[in-house]
Amino acid sequence: MSSNGYIEKPECAQRSLELHQRAKQLMPDGVSSPVRAFRHVGGRPIYVSRGEGSAFIDEDGRHFVDYCMGWGALIVGHAYPTVVEAVQKTARDGLCFGTCHRNEIALAELITEAFTPLDMVRFVCSGTEAVATALRLARAATGRPLLVKFSGCYHGHADAMLVKAGSGAAEQQLAESEGVTASTIADTLVLPLGSPQRLEDAFAKHGDHIAAVIVEPLPANNGLLPQPPAWLRQVRALTQQHGALLIFDEVISGFRFGFGGYGRLVADIEADMVTLGKIVSGGLAVGAVVGTSKLMQKLAPSGGVYQAGTQAGNPVGLAAGIACLKTLKEAWPYEKLHTLGNQLEAAMQKGGAAAYFRRQGSLFWLCLDGQGKLPDNAEQFPSNMGKKFHPAYATWLSKGIYMPPSSYEVGFLSAVHKSAEVEALARALTEAVHETQKMG
Ligand SMILES: *Cc1c(COP(=O)(O)O)cnc(C)c1O
Repeated sequence: MSSNGYIEKPECAQRSLELHQRAKQLMPDGVSSPVRAFRHVGGRPIYVSRGEGSAFIDEDGRHFVDYCMGWGALIVGHAYPTVVEAVQKTARDGLCFGTCHRNEIALAELITEAFTPLDMVRFVCSGTEAVATALRLARAATGRPLLVKFSGCYHGHADAMLVKAGSGAAEQQLAESEGVTASTIADTLVLPLGSPQRLEDAFAKHGDHIAAVIVEPLPANNGLLPQPPAWLRQVRALTQQHGALLIFDEVISGFRFGFGGYGRLVADIEADMVTLGKIVSGGLAVGAVVGTSKLMQKLAPSGGVYQAGTQAGNPVGLAAGIACLKTLKEAWPYEKLHTLGNQLEAAMQKGGAAAYFRRQGSLFWLCLDGQGKLPDNAEQFPSNMGKKFHPAYATWLSKGIYMPPSSYEVGFLSAVHKSAEVEALARALTEAVHETQKMG
């Protein structure tokens, strides 16, 4: 074992290897979600056995400081005591009833308080489900078929969201996945982020048929691509002008920058609906749609838009969400998160790596393949994206640093990361930048 607890010889990671080999017989490439297979970074997936605070230990006893943090869900860290206690206490009284539970009210109150004037919630079990529900509701409320999304935003895996811009003619669009029908592709318009002209043109041409525009107010699933607040305001103005709805997908950004949404914080605008997941789940399987009661009442059984779920509003999941949001409200870790982010950014600047690094609050992104130019939208991504990330990733693992295993993914700081960990992270990321520069 090296001093940081990491066992350097890969043959010592025998247990993860054996588990993955068994898993491959049972699940596609052995995983339950694609990026976990490590195809973007080479090597083999890590099987985690236990997490606490900012770190986890894998099945081979290796220790990693975690910068994936359940893809952002764990803003208060792994196994945060009050969250775990709330889960245990609720679980002792029963895991699932498929009926009403007081926890629904408690979490809905916390969420609507943070998203006023949006005053009604529907609980689901994932971000994907929240988005699918919001889109159906938007189509029903407007009586229109078309959805607008932006390349570089991720909204989960509902068919309508797996459409991308084609590389040829401006209007040509393609499916991002097999199994998406031509009619689904035709009903989703994909535009570049941050282009006022393309947005104007789309509304000029299709305005009467657009049900909703969906956007991550802080795009953070395809690198970190913050957009000008003025552009977000234009999205708001055009949707209002044309009678379309605006959906902010805040599954990552919700409750990360303050006790509420990023859209309001950055551009002082209100969406008609907000989709939530990750942080509001406290680490379990909870998602939510938030909207005005006028809109939300269109959901069954008040209205005619069908949506349901066996596990929707599961008391144990909601207990985790309540405990997490209460912790955020009471302990208010946002200044600390911001300070850690600042510290990371300052160290990257000092190390001469700023041109490869972007940060917003406690989210950060290292773009090794950009040759010192950070893309502002998906169209500007280098064609060889990921090539330089690959060798860097192995080095980080050997130093006991677990980053999200893809060059497209952002890193997450939590309220329990330590200053010294962030310094070590900055050193590792800076070294990767310098290695990249040497490779040319
Ligand atoms: C993670 C994410 C989703 C999908 O959420 P799941 O819970 O993985 O289905 C949707 N939108 C955004 C912005 C996300 O970050």
